[in-house]
Amino acid sequence: MAVNVTANLVRLLAAKDKKILGGQEAVKSILIEVRAQILGELQGVTGDSYTAYHLRQNLDSIEGHLAQFESLAGRELGSLLDATWEGGADLLPEATKGSGLVLGYGHIPTSVLQTLKDYSFHKISNLTADAFGRIRGELSLGILGQKSPQQVMSAIAGSLDSPGVFKSIEERAWVITGTEMGRTFSQATQTGMAQATQSVPDLKKQWWHAGHPKQPRKNHLALHGQVQPVDKPFLLGSLSIMHPRDPKAPASEVIRCGCDHVPYMDVWGRDKLPIFNERGEVIAQRGQRTGLEEPLVGKFEQGQIKPKAGKGT
Ligand SMILES: [Zn+2]
Repeated sequence: MAVNVTANLVRLLAAKDKKILGGQEAVKSILIEVRAQILGELQGVTGDSYTAYHLRQNLDSIEGHLAQFESLAGRELGSLLDATWEGGADLLPEATKGSGLVLGYGHIPTSVLQTLKDYSFHKISNLTADAFGRIRGELSLGILGQKSPQQVMSAIAGSLDSPGVFKSIEERAWVITGTEMGRTFSQATQTGMAQATQSVPDLKKQWWHAGHPKQPRKNHLALHGQVQPVDKPFLLGSLSIMHPRDPKAPASEVIRCGCDHVPYMDVWGRDKLPIFNERGEVIAQRGQRTGLEEPLVGKFEQGQIKPKAGKGT
């Protein structure tokens, strides 16, 4: 039986998405732990006003807890990126296993991986510094008598009417983890495919939209199915992007992007994955589009007409 490369790609990308979700949960649970420690510190303040002594004591220990978050989350993200890099590098060989394609390369260079790890760590450091700045701001309001310890606490921990400092830190940590894991995967795929073109000159790449976000980027929907030579960027209007989450692309094209790019060869035959419109009717096959189809809506799987959570992909 012929190897179904497309089905393999779908399976491998689903496994990657699951790993990213697991990574996001792992970083979140580190943050939840640190949040609990910090709230424990703040709860130690009794009475209805702060003293300078309390403030100094709180700040010192909060700084320590946040430093611990920075180091644990940084280490976690580092090993997550190692694993995602491997997954991205394996995408082409795994998807084409048994197809007779001779790729002619072994390990791909990992110098880019180190840069990606440094960059991600830098983002986590920024996030931590920002969290400390905001918590210190709230505590200062407490010492100035503008907020009671209870109000300071809810501004940091969150309350029914305000999400609090930790909620936004948690959201940013979630986005950083997802974006950087996705970026690392795509960059490894790109590096591997570029090497493979030396032995498989007909190899191309294709953009796949994730197909399930609440608010899909119109640009990325329009890129869905576009095929390009591996060493050439995907093109749309003035947008030129080597792969999803390309570090050279503007941030507006990158944050929360869940798109993929995959190896593509004409000989693999016409791609049979259908694309559905909002009414569940097939309007196109995954593949080069003619431009005459009804605009895609970002919901490509039958039975999943209702948008899933998440946005901006
Ligand atoms: Zn996207």
